Amino acid sequence: MTVPTLDLNDGTTIPQLGFGVFQVPAEDTKATVLQAFEAGYRHIDTAQMYQNEQGVGEAIVESGLARDEIYVTTKLNNGFHRPDDARRSLEDSLERLGLDRVDLFLIHWPLPTRYDGDYVSTWQTMVELRDAGKTTSAGVSNFQPDHLDRIVAETGQAPVINQIEVHPYLTNDQAREATHRHSALVEAWSPIAQGAVLDDPELTTIAEELGRSTAQVTLRWHVQRGDIVFPKSVNPKRMQQNFAIFDFELSEEQMATITGLDRGEDGRTGPNPDEMDIIPD
Ligand code: NDP
Repeated sequence: MTVPTLDLNDGTTIPQLGFGVFQVPAEDTKATVLQAFEAGYRHIDTAQMYQNEQGVGEAIVESGLARDEIYVTTKLNNGFHRPDDARRSLEDSLERLGLDRVDLFLIHWPLPTRYDGDYVSTWQTMVELRDAGKTTSAGVSNFQPDHLDRIVAETGQAPVINQIEVHPYLTNDQAREATHRHSALVEAWSPIAQGAVLDDPELTTIAEELGRSTAQVTLRWHVQRGDIVFPKSVNPKRMQQNFAIFDFELSEEQMATITGLDRGEDGRTGPNPDEMDIIPD
């Protein structure tokens, strides 16, 4: 199965399907990521906050895969938004990952109620880190439309990616549209809502029509919308299942049915980015 690559607005490309390691325990990460490589994944989404970058790095070394065969994303932790901290934290990430650059570095949360509301200098630092070659591409995560508009207006630089919560119960249209308005792509985090959508009756009907699982149908819906996904699973069978989404297609009607499952804010499983202010220890 070949994973499509999508063009980013800085001239680089990204595999549309990856593997997320949020909540994969540090001690299991190396083995889990090796299983993901075995299943065919070549794009890994980690974060400083997940405390498992080292396991990702060990898996990369042990896999024997060439650096340019793998796409690695990490994210700036909430305590490191000040420019000097951001620079230092990326050096620390690179050391843990055993890499001299990541493919994509994201501001994990905008934290509009912290740092005197200044996420612009953080974004400017991300751009500088990109220009210095420490990350190939620079992007953001959990940015609302006004956050995106502000960083672009004040720096003249658009992110390549906005990684936001998107799944059938939270289609997150306004943040998606704002991301596209800035020529950036959406990465849909918790693409199966951490499992919450999997027993949905409408998704179950479509899955039965196609002879697929509800997880596969949901992931397929994302990719047909043009978003990037990286489902997490520690189970090799489910890893393989989530990878097998490029040999079938949803009809326009099936796509519309799934999009119609949106519950707006009630569908959110994670924090609201306007309010999120947690700085982990
Ligand atoms: P997902 O929507 O990927 O769901 C993961 C859960 O679903 C796990 O409990 C997993 O269990 C289960 N699961 C996975 N595949 C299947 C399947 N085929 N059938 C049944 N159950 C399945 O949730 P995540 O929150 O992990 O999101 C994915 C990634 O998005 C993260 O790993 C992270 O990289 C990113 N993310 C980013 C955030 C941000 O703020 N930027 C926030 C949250 C996530 P099991 O492991 O037992 O298979």
